[in-house]
This record gives sequence, C-alpha cells and structure tokens, in this order.
Amino acid sequence: MRPLQMVDTKTQYLKIKDKVDKAVIGVMESAQFIGGKVVNDFADHLAQYHESKHVITCANGTDALQIAMMALGLKPGDEVITPSFTYIATVEVAALLGIKPIFVDVDKHSFCIDPTEIEKSITPNTKAIVPVHLYGHASDMEAIMSIAQRHNLFVIEDNAQGIGNDYTFSNGVKKKTGSIGHIGCTSFYPSKNLGAFGDGGAIFTDDDVLAEKLKMIASHGQSKRYYHDVVGCNSRLDAMQAAILDIKLQHLDEYIDARRKAADFYDKAFAGHPKIETPFRGENNNHVFHQYTLIIHDANRNALSEYLTEKGIPSMIYYPVPAHRQKMFDAFGGSEFQLPVTDWLTERVISLPIHTELDEEQQTFIADAVIEFFK
Ligand SMILES: *Cc1c(COP(=O)(O)O)cnc(C)c1O
Repeated sequence: MRPLQMVDTKTQYLKIKDKVDKAVIGVMESAQFIGGKVVNDFADHLAQYHESKHVITCANGTDALQIAMMALGLKPGDEVITPSFTYIATVEVAALLGIKPIFVDVDKHSFCIDPTEIEKSITPNTKAIVPVHLYGHASDMEAIMSIAQRHNLFVIEDNAQGIGNDYTFSNGVKKKTGSIGHIGCTSFYPSKNLGAFGDGGAIFTDDDVLAEKLKMIASHGQSKRYYHDVVGCNSRLDAMQAAILDIKLQHLDEYIDARRKAADFYDKAFAGHPKIETPFRGENNNHVFHQYTLIIHDANRNALSEYLTEKGIPSMIYYPVPAHRQKMFDAFGGSEFQLPVTDWLTERVISLPIHTELDEEQQTFIADAVIEFFK
C-alpha cells in the first residue's frame, strides 16, 4: 500500500509534471517574476471559472481577508460577525485592524455559521458578516444575504476551503461560493483544493468600485505607480505560482470529483454506524470536501486519533481550540461568548485523509481501522 498522508500533493504534481515544469521554466526564461501576463491570465481564467467580474490576486488567503476588510472601510470599533469554529485567519485579521469579532455559533450539521444566531448579534456597530465555507460545505448564503440586506451589512465570504462549490438558491440560480457576498476571499496554500507550490490568495468581487479599491490596497495604496492615495499593504501573487495555478485550475473540477468520490467511499463504509456521524451534505450545495470530517458520538475521539496514529493513519482535529477560546482574543472578551455547538463539535470532530490521490486500498485500510477502534 502507498503511504498514507492527509494530503498527497506530490502524486498529484507527478500527473501534470510536464506541463507544470514547462510553465515554471517559461516564467524563469521570461524573467517576469512579479505581475505581468502570466498573473493576469490566471486572474482572468479564475474570474471566468468563478463567473466573477473581478479577481484580484494577492499573497495569501489571510491577506485577502485583511484587504477585503480594509477596502470596505471597516475601522476600529466596528464589529464583524463570524463563526468561532474556523481557522484563526478569518478572525485574526479583524482583530489586527482593531475590529471586534463577534463570534456566533455554527450549525451542528453543516459546521457553518448558523444564520438564526446572526441576527441576535447585530448591534449598531455591526458592519459585516464573514461566513466561512468550512471543510468545503457552503454556508447558508441565501439566509445570510437576506439578513445582510435587511440590516445593510457587507458580506465577506471566506472561501479558502470552498473553492469550486456550486451553491443553488431556492429560485434555481446557481453561483460559486466566493462570488455571492460583496467580496469573496480564497487561499492557494498548497493543501487547499486549488493549491500552489507556495503561498497565494485571491479576492473576488462583482463591484467595479470595490475592485479598484481592493487592487489599490493590495499594492501600497497606489492607483498610479508612486502615487499613494490610501494606506495599503504589499500583497502579490508571484508569476511562478500563477503559472502553476493556471494549470491546476484546468483540473480543479476533476480534483473536486475525486474528493467527492473519496467522500462517497467513506460515507458508504461508515453508513449506519451508531457512533460515527458522516459529513452532512446540504442539497443546495456541491460539497467540495476540503476536509472529510466525522463527528464521533459517545466515544473518546482523542483515543481514536491515537489508535489511528499507531496504525500509521494520519488524522487531524480541525480545530482543537475554537477562535473565541484562543488567548489571542482574551482582550476582545473571547471567552465570554456562549457557543455550545462550537464547544460540542470541538470535542467530537476528527478529519480523515482526503485528497485527489486516495485509492481504494488506502481507503479500505483507513475505514476498517476506524470501525475496528469501536469494537
Ligand atoms: C487557509 C485558510 C485561510 C488562510 O489562508 P492562507 O493562505 O494560509 O493565509 C483563511 N481561512 C480559512 C478558512 C482557511 O482554511
């Protein structure tokens, strides 16, 4: 059996090695390392894939979120509503800008922000909602957009784990997650569904004015070279990463299919098990399975993790400490938030290896070991 990994980017690379190597050498020969045609082409292709009017590339997903909050003019004292059950970057950038994160609980099944909890947390200082499409499952965007509209709030989607997810509204309209809110943000961190060979990120919007602001802020606040209108930052996707991503983008749908197939396999293997709850898949979205995350009932989740490690099977707890309980947020009153579902899930979730290169032998071995643990 091939060795087990949470994610196998090497095997994935070897299948497209010729194209990727050629593209990277092309960038080296062009000596156009920053900006230029390769980066612009990738941004155009990504905008087409996403059916988004504008794509602004940047250095990573964390920067994408920060630039989004800056472009919307969020400032110290403002509040943003976000889940606590997420990767820290979503909320860290708010804190960095002096914006107060208002943590809201998640839905027990989708792992995403619970819209019914959002409205209770809105105050006169609330400026934006930041839903996270966690593990690749879409947040309830229809409900979130309607709340945002009613209260005149911005929506910034954290689509770092959800790229490629097709969301269907009740009227049948389909949109990619990340192009539903006012701004969408994504990451090309190597293990993400569209992963670079280093860092990268992108910002999506359909708004022409916002697009200009986002571009300016990502580039030292300049609209024209050496004329700096606002305080910005320096956040660029380099040409080598863009060249690689442009090739991988052509395979993204196929990568998503492979992840969904792997998820189907696990689902079947665990079906009906009284202690294993397999991932929920809302009908209104096409789960892209950035992670395959189980909820373990009436058993010691950490003991399962250790048992798997002993058998050479990697697993991960995403995330062992929810954002509101991180020391970082002590100063923001993090631990004062009551988030029972978040706490409940934090003690019960476990993510199994899922990626594009899993084979049946590997998955059988993993599923058998999980089931064996409960015997
Ligand atoms: C990966 C990730 C980010 C940050 O992306 P980086 O490129 O690592 O900065 C933000 N939010 C979520 C939910 C993520 O998974």
